[in-house]
Amino acid sequence: MKKKGLTQLRTSTLSMALLTLMAAFPVNAGQVVLFIGDGMGVTTVSAGRILAGQLQGKTGEEHELTFEQFENVALVKTYNTDMQVPDSAGTMTAVITGQKTRFGVLSLNADVERRNCTQALQGTLPTLLEQAETAGYATGVVTTTRVTHATPAASFAHSPERDWEDDAAMPAEALTAGCRDIARQFVEFDKGDGVDVLLGGGRANFLPETVTDPEHDTLKGRRKDGKNLIDQWQASRPERTFVWNTAGFKNLRGKGQVLGIFEASHMQWEVDRAKDVGGEPSLAEMTTFALDRLQARNKNFLLIVEGGRIDHGHHAGSAHKALNDVVALDAAVAVAARRIHPRRGLILVTADHSHTLSFAGYPPRGNPILGKVPVIPGGGEGGAPTYTYPTLGYANGPGAVSPLPDYTTIDTQDPAFRQPATLPMMSETHGGEDVAAYARGAAADGVRGVMEQNELYAVLYRGLFGRAPR
Ligand SMILES: [Zn+2]
Repeated sequence: MKKKGLTQLRTSTLSMALLTLMAAFPVNAGQVVLFIGDGMGVTTVSAGRILAGQLQGKTGEEHELTFEQFENVALVKTYNTDMQVPDSAGTMTAVITGQKTRFGVLSLNADVERRNCTQALQGTLPTLLEQAETAGYATGVVTTTRVTHATPAASFAHSPERDWEDDAAMPAEALTAGCRDIARQFVEFDKGDGVDVLLGGGRANFLPETVTDPEHDTLKGRRKDGKNLIDQWQASRPERTFVWNTAGFKNLRGKGQVLGIFEASHMQWEVDRAKDVGGEPSLAEMTTFALDRLQARNKNFLLIVEGGRIDHGHHAGSAHKALNDVVALDAAVAVAARRIHPRRGLILVTADHSHTLSFAGYPPRGNPILGKVPVIPGGGEGGAPTYTYPTLGYANGPGAVSPLPDYTTIDTQDPAFRQPATLPMMSETHGGEDVAAYARGAAADGVRGVMEQNELYAVLYRGLFGRAPR
């Protein structure tokens, strides 16, 4: 009897240990890549898909982007707690912390008013990237905007004002009250061993105003506190490397942490990338590098990749810039889809918010998506088009023209062309309708139906840790 009891005890200890081990290493989770197409609303995806197909010589409409082949799809409600039409700060906070917040606010709770430093110091929300670092996982953030811009910043910084990217942008009271700018928060990040890979633009936010930019001799840093945060970041831990151009990027070796800042401000739009002085890697090249480095550091990781300038193309009224950046984002998704086995991790592709892009008229099949709706003599649905106009337009923005020009004489596929807008505005605005989310792999079944944007956090958490967040 006594002997059997001992055996039972041994068996239960063994199964307990096995359960603990299984919980620590869930089979179906651990590698998570979150792609954000900034401003990539559903209309942008439809038009971007056609452009991608036409660039491959097809008619385009039948083309499928890589992420459109993912099985799990949802519609996502993007509003901020205080705004019907949101911005990237509030929306990325929802995705990366699990809680919606106010417009302009980064990873702080909804009680914190915009620009209120005192409230901000009490309102921190932990981010998934911080939780991954605390768990000892590898982490990376890749973007084409400044790395201190709203979407990437929400993953590692907490600020009541998205524009506080460096100390020069902050009011004196906020600095005195103890709030820190976003670039400084990255360098002083204290979870785990810090973010392992950060790639994007925005050197000026890290450099003092006395230091000349390595790529542009007419530009200097923006910091007024005299800190060279790039030097500080490199010195604060061993095996940290900073690069700023393609040559440096291509020479990176080893497993150490990398800060790659390829432009003084935002990186180039994909269509302008070849003209860059120092050379810039593409979003797909940066994603490849980040996956290599993160997979070498730890088998579990969180990588956030933002196609950040889709949004900027739209704001400028340029579908040419925005849609080519959608194609570049999809190329980066294709890299992750090849590298991450669906049983080992999760790929989630979504947008933070939409834009006012409109895809309208009756262009025939295979018509260039940046082209014009031709006049069909005596034909056309409803009122026959008697007037030639671009297929794509915006509800508002810098492309508004009055009176309407004769589009038959205008090349709407010219890179400098701005799509027409109904209401004149310096900058085209975001749109308030739902965006889509596409997911494949571990926990992807959580992406379904009509979701609140902050519910995506639980999906990402489950993909990373193999269990629901507490
Ligand atoms: Zn925007």
